[in-house]
Amino acid sequence: MSAPEMPAARLPTVPYYPVLTGQVALVTGASSGIGRATALGLARAGAVVAVNYGSDAKAAAEVVAEIEAVGSRALAVRADVSREDEVLAMFRSVVETFGTVHVLVSNAGLQRDAPIAEMSLADWNTVIGVNLTGQFLCAREAVREFRRRGIQPDLSVAAGKIICMSSVHEVIPWAGHANYAASKGGVSLLMKTLAQELAPERIRVNAIAPGAIRTPINRAAWDTPEAYGRLLHLLPYRRIGEPDDIAQAAVWLASDASDYVTGATLFVDGGMTLYPGFEDNG
Ligand code: NAD
Repeated sequence: MSAPEMPAARLPTVPYYPVLTGQVALVTGASSGIGRATALGLARAGAVVAVNYGSDAKAAAEVVAEIEAVGSRALAVRADVSREDEVLAMFRSVVETFGTVHVLVSNAGLQRDAPIAEMSLADWNTVIGVNLTGQFLCAREAVREFRRRGIQPDLSVAAGKIICMSSVHEVIPWAGHANYAASKGGVSLLMKTLAQELAPERIRVNAIAPGAIRTPINRAAWDTPEAYGRLLHLLPYRRIGEPDDIAQAAVWLASDASDYVTGATLFVDGGMTLYPGFEDNG
C-alpha cells in the first residue's frame, strides 16, 4: 500500500472564547508540545495559568511570557510530577500565588521504549512513575484543593475539573512500548474511578487521548517525508495533529460547556482508533 496523497494540510483557525475567565489552571509538562499549547489555550480562554516544568526553566519562562502577551497571568513552577514532595510544594506555591486551582491538566509524560526482553526495570519505573503515579499525585492534591475551596458559582458550577492526558495507547496495544501503553491504560481506569468517586462533589474528571500530534516526543514519526508518509497510513483524516487540536479539547473539557461530561475519554486522533487497516476492506 503506497502512502495516500496528502491534501495541503488545512488547519482550523478557531478562536478561543473567554469561558474560563477568573479560573486558575495548572498544566503539568507545560514547557513544550501539547502542554505548552494547552497552557496558552487556557490563557486565551481567560484562565490564569501555572506552567509546570520538569527541567527546562528557560522554555517555561517563554511560555509564561507568551501567556502574558495574550493578556493573562502565569507562573512557572518546577516539579518532578513523580515525586510526592515536589508535587505538594508545587500546589502550595500555586495556591499561595493565585489563591486556588480550578483546573488541573495532568499532561506531563515521557517514553522509554524497548522490546520487552531488553526493557530495564529503571525504564519501566520511570514511565509508570511519571505517566501514572504523577497523575495520581497531582489529582490527589487537586481534589484536596477543590474541597478546601468549594464551589465558586460565579466562576464555575463545578468545584473543579481534572483533565488527564492519556493516549490512543490506552486502547491500542503498542509493541516495544509496554511501559508506555501500561501507563496510559492505567490512566484510563484511574480517570474513570476518580470520576465516579468525585462526581457527587461536582468534581469532573475526564481524559484526552491524543493520536499522533506534532511534538518533540514523537519527532521521528513526522520529521522526514518518508516517516510522515508511513504515519499517514494510520491517520484516516490524513494529517498529523497539531498541539492546538488538543488545546481546544482541553478548554472545552475545562469549561462549563462540558458540565455534564465526566468519566469520558475524548479521542482527538484524526481517526487513528478507527482501525485504519480496514480502510481498503482489510
Ligand atoms: P513533550 O515531550 O513535548 O511533552 C512532555 C512534557 O512532559 C515535557 O515538557 C517534559 O519536560 C514533561 N515532563 C516529563 N517528565 C516530567 C516530570 N517527571 N515532571 C514534570 N514534567 C515532566 O511531548 P507531548 O507530545 O507534548 O506530550 C504531552 C503528553 O501527551 C504526554 O503525556 C504524552 O504521553 C501525551 N501524548 C502525546 C502524543 C503525541 O503524539 N505527541 C500522543 C498521545 C499522547
